[in-house]
Amino acid sequence: MELLISAGQVLAGPAGDRIVDGAVLVADEKIVAIGRRDEVAARAGQDTRVLDFPGATVLPGLIDCHVHLAFDASAQPIEAMQERDEFSLLLGMAGRAQQLLDTGVTTTRDLGDRDGLAVRLREAIAQGSLAGPRILSATAPLTVRGGHCWFLGGEVADEAEIRTTVRRNARNGADLIKVMATGGGMTKGGPATWEPQFSSAELRIVVEEAAEVGLRVAVHAHGTEGIANAVAAGVHTIEHCSWLAKDGFDVRPELAEEIAAKGIFVCPGASPNWRMLPKAFGEERAAAMFARLTWMADLGVRLIAGTDAGVPRAVFNDFVSSLEFFSHLGFPPERVIEMTTVDAAEALGIAEETGRLAPGHTADLLVVDSDPLHDIAALRDLRLVLAAGRAHLPARSMITP
Ligand SMILES: [Zn+2]
Repeated sequence: MELLISAGQVLAGPAGDRIVDGAVLVADEKIVAIGRRDEVAARAGQDTRVLDFPGATVLPGLIDCHVHLAFDASAQPIEAMQERDEFSLLLGMAGRAQQLLDTGVTTTRDLGDRDGLAVRLREAIAQGSLAGPRILSATAPLTVRGGHCWFLGGEVADEAEIRTTVRRNARNGADLIKVMATGGGMTKGGPATWEPQFSSAELRIVVEEAAEVGLRVAVHAHGTEGIANAVAAGVHTIEHCSWLAKDGFDVRPELAEEIAAKGIFVCPGASPNWRMLPKAFGEERAAAMFARLTWMADLGVRLIAGTDAGVPRAVFNDFVSSLEFFSHLGFPPERVIEMTTVDAAEALGIAEETGRLAPGHTADLLVVDSDPLHDIAALRDLRLVLAAGRAHLPARSMITP
């Protein structure tokens, strides 16, 4: 079926790429044309369905680069996950995927779940059995024995086990490999958040083995040692990148410059709940953490948007709040849109498929009532979400007058 969607402005994704009185022509799950309304309309067939949204904005569907669908964002998400059998956990994950779609997220990267369930969900959504975003799944993250998130099933003890676990994840349908380069806050016992779990040589084996099966590598790294090991190993994205050391922070400008030079993307994992951080960490420490992101960006590091949804208080139904974190840091709206569309797609290796409005790309797009270039909060005023060409009316669009 052909669909012609026109609006007051169409944003293709990259900053500055804006068409006034624009339109997008969609056939089944693909974008056929984008441009000025009259030009695109001239290409539409007789039976094309026309949806006109005067005063509204059309833009690419959003990408949340860091979620955990298996976690429920409660105070005890690990216990909540462990209490469930596969069926009830999968149903919960399906519901959370739908919440993401409801907030305009048409692609999400799951960075750690249990029993390959995110792959099952990915298939059900791709086949059209369930509404939800495109899912890229890391399956079980690699970690050391008793290390961060060991309970997800990715413990490795040596080089041989690193290789077999990367291969096993690939066989189980993983879209990428995730590795825990440092400890993490949610796991009881094991290395501390700032402590490295793997050497750079071990991480290099992960990257090598993943490359053999055509997969990218995302690395969880809070501590500076772990960040340095990941950069030396040549990973594709660094999650969190908090520059932690045993006693406070260890910030290394030359390492940040290397991240930029190597084209490694950083996903800070900004919770929708970020406004609470100054209360949790103290004003001064939170301000230092926030400033580190603009510092990295100033050194040329490319940041991408992600929520770490599923961990305590990182909900699935408030993606725009996590984008507002970047606005709070001073990034202009068109830059924030790039972080969650074109740049995110590039970081995830799916830039030929989604992340921008272009002919031949999958029809992942949003219609919002007002102008997100004025204020990113406008992304809450969703009228329509198209995910792989399938129309989805967010609940909010039905209650807004
Ligand atoms: Zn995470």
